[in-house]
Amino acid sequence: MAGYTPMMQQYLSVKADAQDALLFFRLGDFYEMFFEDAVTAARELEITLTGRDAGQEERIPMCGVPYHSAEGYIARLVEKGYKVAICEQVEDPATAKGVVRREIVRIVTPGTVMETKSLGEGSNNFIVAAAEQGGRFGLAACDLTTGELYATSFPVSKETLLNELNVYRPSEAVGDVASLARLRDEAARTGQTLLCTERERVEDPDARLAAQFPKEHWAAQENVRKLAIARLIAYLGETQKRSLGHLQTVKFYDPKQYMALDAYTRRNLELTETVRDRSWKGSLLWLLDKTKTAMGTRLLKRWIDQPLLDRGSIEERLDAVEALHGRWMEREELREELKEVYDLERLVGRIAYGTANARDLNALKASLQRIPAIRALCERLDSAPLAKLAGGLDDCSDLAGAIDAAIADDPPVSVREGGIIRTGYDAKLDELHIASRNGKTWIAELERQEREATGIKSLKIGFNKVFGYYLEVTRANLSALPEGRYERKQTLANAERFVTPELKEKEALILEAEDRMVDLEYSLFAELRDRIASQIPRLQTLAEQIASLDVLQSFAEVGSEKRYTRPRFDSGYGLTVKEGRHPVVEAVSEGVAFIHNDTSLSKEDGSILLITGPNMAGKSTYMRQVAMISIMAQIGCFVPAKQAELPLIDRIFTRIGAADDLVGGQSTFMVEMKDIQVMTEQATERSLIIIDELGRGTSTDEGMAIAQAVIEYVHDVIGCKALVSTHFHELARLEETLPSLRNGCMAVKESADGVTFLRKLVAGAADSSYGIYCAQLAGLPQSIVSRAYHLLESAAAIEHVENVAPPRMNPPAIREGEAVYQARPDDAPPIAAAPVPEPGIVQLSIFEEPVKQEKGRKASPAADKLADKLRKLDIMRMTPLQALEWLNDARNQL
Ligand code: ADP
Repeated sequence: MAGYTPMMQQYLSVKADAQDALLFFRLGDFYEMFFEDAVTAARELEITLTGRDAGQEERIPMCGVPYHSAEGYIARLVEKGYKVAICEQVEDPATAKGVVRREIVRIVTPGTVMETKSLGEGSNNFIVAAAEQGGRFGLAACDLTTGELYATSFPVSKETLLNELNVYRPSEAVGDVASLARLRDEAARTGQTLLCTERERVEDPDARLAAQFPKEHWAAQENVRKLAIARLIAYLGETQKRSLGHLQTVKFYDPKQYMALDAYTRRNLELTETVRDRSWKGSLLWLLDKTKTAMGTRLLKRWIDQPLLDRGSIEERLDAVEALHGRWMEREELREELKEVYDLERLVGRIAYGTANARDLNALKASLQRIPAIRALCERLDSAPLAKLAGGLDDCSDLAGAIDAAIADDPPVSVREGGIIRTGYDAKLDELHIASRNGKTWIAELERQEREATGIKSLKIGFNKVFGYYLEVTRANLSALPEGRYERKQTLANAERFVTPELKEKEALILEAEDRMVDLEYSLFAELRDRIASQIPRLQTLAEQIASLDVLQSFAEVGSEKRYTRPRFDSGYGLTVKEGRHPVVEAVSEGVAFIHNDTSLSKEDGSILLITGPNMAGKSTYMRQVAMISIMAQIGCFVPAKQAELPLIDRIFTRIGAADDLVGGQSTFMVEMKDIQVMTEQATERSLIIIDELGRGTSTDEGMAIAQAVIEYVHDVIGCKALVSTHFHELARLEETLPSLRNGCMAVKESADGVTFLRKLVAGAADSSYGIYCAQLAGLPQSIVSRAYHLLESAAAIEHVENVAPPRMNPPAIREGEAVYQARPDDAPPIAAAPVPEPGIVQLSIFEEPVKQEKGRKASPAADKLADKLRKLDIMRMTPLQALEWLNDARNQL
């Protein structure tokens, strides 16, 4: 440090405490950055990099931003993943001796941004902390703006961790090296960026927890959870440097309380964002969001992220939705009331933080004043859960009353300039008001007297911040001013400004009164804010109840608008849906009727449905619809169906082609196999499995072999409900050997005019995949289409050597303006189940018979040997990956 100026030495010693942050160093009206920080900030913010003498030979890099516009710059840096340490002058420069004392007052990080403008109203911003002990992983997650704090723990597992990360999508994490590495890896898998800070040791964690939370919290909580929370609280303390009064309750849960949804399933089903452009529009969240408050919007997302497994809680939500569903008048009134409720959670956050202003308190008051009406509405609906909710609503009228008594109706944004406290609230303040008002009357009177005494009509008394009160006389009138009493202060172009001793004396009194008034107003305001801060748990409970009510009314609103019905749960295995629809596809297909379909999955009638049929027929829409209905039901929402009898599904597992592009560097097939491996490990009898185009990513033979092996495994070992689509029509034969598997296909109507997709699921297997027909629909040149039909025909001729009539392969004509929905299912007879292909012809036969000679290729000794090995293979004992490896080896031997 030698050689640096004293100010620079101060800078360097402050910087030593904020190595991993960009230091905003307050110098007068600017925040300045120096050295590397300046270079980085200038680049990221596109501001000019300059230099400054720091006492050494070379100038040091420097850049700066004005303090009054710093918030935007800080937000930009934090959004880019930097931490910003804000260092303020902590003593008055006027009275300071030597260099003004400066301290870091707060470190803003991606997970601790309090400025909600950059975050978005309806979304959370979480920071997580992690710990690992004895094979258990502890995770704590906090949104500092809303005061939400959750903690959970589970046996260390990549999958559970990934699922949990998907709920929070945190922007920042703290923990020890090992747990951070896990978090980082999992976050990377879904493309989240996570700023990680290592904080392993926490000094006296128990004392920290005891200081922050009520004691009851910790009874019977696992250590690993406590450690995660202690790390979180320590880090928040270290960066925020203030009390965090709004973090008083931790919500503990076990991931097993909720339906397990892996990252791919969430994405594939487009629960909270679409696959294509990750937008909110087009997701289930978008469809169900008729909430009126920001708290409701955030809670809705959480409910969708965590469908329940506890039947009692689900029924409670459904009861409330049902009560609201049928009463649109009350619902409308309720929505009107909720619209007037501000974001209580974030208001509370600002109150605890000491950043709430008078307008925030008025917003809180306005919100609280709505509660009695909301309570009355809930009581009118005679539903047990709503009555319970209403009974628990605390309108905090004492707080609303206190705000109303103190805060003026239209206060300014700033709390340091007065004008926020009502007259009549505080006697001392009123006195000062009167003094200041009297002073001003006195000044007006003085102006009148001076005019009279001097005879200068244009003489006036003015005020500015530099000179205070002054008398102003125009140049032309200067001669009329008597000598002596007037002291010249300022010369303007055509006027002079003067003061007199008595004016100065009065000014001192007025300004003092005003200063004291502003100070007093601030302290009265701060007192009130602190009083409210002491009631934070009440406000937080209220916020939570209002948020739930908002989500429930949102469900009722969407449900009645879209004609949804209440799902019924039973404790059995079977799932029956009558006239089910896909909620989002239905909502976005304007002007086109959505074709409903039934679903029945049970031990008796088949728990696995194998769907064949052409592309674009509606297979994947149908399969997703079943998953969507289950999820909607388990979050407590009505479902798009005429009737739904559902079991509680513990996990939905989907493998649907479209999300492959997500994972860079891995082949589609490898991704599919890994997903399937996870599925084999985790699916239970109570799970629902959906696999679209199973085995697509590899060669036909291998793909089909694996598809069959997987289906058999699901059937024999897991025993859960499954919907599987495949383009391997040959797999339809499995219906003969797997008693719980049924074939289904999407009906297609063929006529001389072409093919019409009926979007109707019927029993039996499809007979042709119409892939070329799709190509034709897509507008491929006719020459390609004809050639493809020709090739298909000759291939079929080779396959069907054993004198089986080839299927019709003539290109169907395409009608102008293809009207896919032209034929309604009601007037179209379901297509009869297609004959199951002859055994022995299809490639599938390699599992049952000696390898046939394929298309003229001679059998070799190697092939014989292989066929022998193959026959001995115990497929049921192999994992899909082993099967894949085996196939690969086998091929290499040929
Ligand atoms: P597949 O999986 O068989 O290729 P999709 O499920 O992707 O077919 O459906 C193709 C298109 O058909 C979708 O874009 C969807 O809009 C429409 N569709 C699917 N099912 C229905 C239905 N039941 N009613 C109306 N339109 C549907």
